[in-house]
Amino acid sequence: MKLRLSFLFLPVLLAALALAQATAPAQHATPHSATSQPAVPAGKIWADLMDGNKRFVAGKPRAKALVGQREELAKGQHPKAMVLSCSDSRVPPELVFDQSLGDLFVVRAAGNVADAVGLGSMEYAYEHLGSTVLVVLGHTKCGAVTAACSGEKMPTSNLQAIVDKIEPAVAKQKNSAEGDALIEAAIKENVHQSAADVLAHSEVLRHAKEEHKLTVYEAEYQLDTGEVLRLGNEK
Ligand SMILES: [Zn+2]
Repeated sequence: MKLRLSFLFLPVLLAALALAQATAPAQHATPHSATSQPAVPAGKIWADLMDGNKRFVAGKPRAKALVGQREELAKGQHPKAMVLSCSDSRVPPELVFDQSLGDLFVVRAAGNVADAVGLGSMEYAYEHLGSTVLVVLGHTKCGAVTAACSGEKMPTSNLQAIVDKIEPAVAKQKNSAEGDALIEAAIKENVHQSAADVLAHSEVLRHAKEEHKLTVYEAEYQLDTGEVLRLGNEK
C-alpha cells in the first residue's frame, strides 16, 4: 500500500519539481523578491560593517535590544551580508563587526574556505534571504594556513581536506617568502583565492556578481588590534 501511494505521489512530485525548475530563472532575475524594500548599496553595507568594527576596536559596542529583535526576526530574516570566515574562536563576525541578530549570514570553516555545503549556504542566503554582499574574512596567525605552509601531511583525511584547499595559495607565495613572512602572505593570498573559488564553483553567485547584484569584499582581521582591514579591490 505504501509503495502504491508513493507511486501515486510521484507524478505530483515531478510536477512540483518541474514547476520549481520553471520558476528558477525568474528567481535569478529577481533574487530579492523576498524583500520589497529597495536594495541597500553594497558600499553602504560595507561602511556599516566598518563602523561596527570601529566600535568593536574601541570597546564600545552598540546596545542591542535582543529580545525585541528576536521576536521581530522570528517572522523572517533578511541578513544584509554573508560572511565567509575562519572558525577561529577569536574571530566571530557578529562581534568583530558589532552586528546583531539577523544582520549576518555566516559560513565558517577553518581557513575560511567553502566546500559544497558552504557554497550552498551562501547561494541560499543570496537567492532566498536577499543578501547582496559577501565578505571573505581571513585573519592574522591563522592556524589552518600555518598548517598548510608547513607542508606536512595531516593526520586525518578531514584535516588534509582543509589544507588541500589552502595549499594553492601557499604555492603561489612560496617562492617570494618564507617562515612567518610566508604565512602572512599566504593568509592574504588565501582570502583572495577563497573569494575567487566561491565565484568559480557557484554559478548562482558568479552570475549574481556579473550582474552587479552581489559585491564581494576581501578582508583580514588583525588578532592583536581587532581591526578588519580591506584587502585588494572590491570585486
Ligand atoms: Zn584561522
